[in-house]
Amino acid sequence: DTLSRPMRTLRVKMVLLGASGVGKSSLALRFCKDEFRRTSPTVGCAYLTQAVHLREVTLRFEIWDTAGEEKYHSVTPLYYRGAHAALLVYDISKRDTFIRAQVWLRELEKQYFSGSTVLWLVGNKGDLEQHRQVSAQEGQSLANDRGLFFTETSALSGDQVEQLLLGVAHRVCE
Ligand code: GDP
Ligand code: MG
Repeated sequence: DTLSRPMRTLRVKMVLLGASGVGKSSLALRFCKDEFRRTSPTVGCAYLTQAVHLREVTLRFEIWDTAGEEKYHSVTPLYYRGAHAALLVYDISKRDTFIRAQVWLRELEKQYFSGSTVLWLVGNKGDLEQHRQVSAQEGQSLANDRGLFFTETSALSGDQVEQLLLGVAHRVCE
């Protein structure tokens, strides 16, 4: 019976990509500590971990954040290697970060990821509705065109952050 069966634990490497300032480190902090800090939390080259429990399995997420290398476009292949999931993050209040996300996508999707890598487009700073420059519709259609999943989040309020992590967990298991 299910009670006596030992829970399986799977390691999931998830990388955060996107322009500087879109909220990657803030999302990482939300995923792992359910906190938000005003001062830019640069997690750095290592990763944070967070366990996600599904019915049959526990996923141990290793959430990789950059230490600012994205500014210089110098994120190394080591960062991507073996990633099961990648979040491509933009800021809904800054159109250039959405354009930038599309450039990253073109470069990355063929080079670094296998067909089984779960790619997720994330429009962060959803709380900045009054400054919105990218509609949810645009995000969704880019995702549809390129076969990505899509969610708008707010690392500030926490809106949709947990749902996003759960969504990734389910897709990784498929
Ligand atoms: P990174 O460079 O992509 O890691 O971005 P950071 O996590 O350092 O965030 C950059 C700035 O945006 C910081 O001042 C954060 O406080 C702010 N920020 C991050 N997420 C949000 C959000 O969801 N809403 C708002 N309003 N600000 C955010
Ligand atoms: Mg950062």
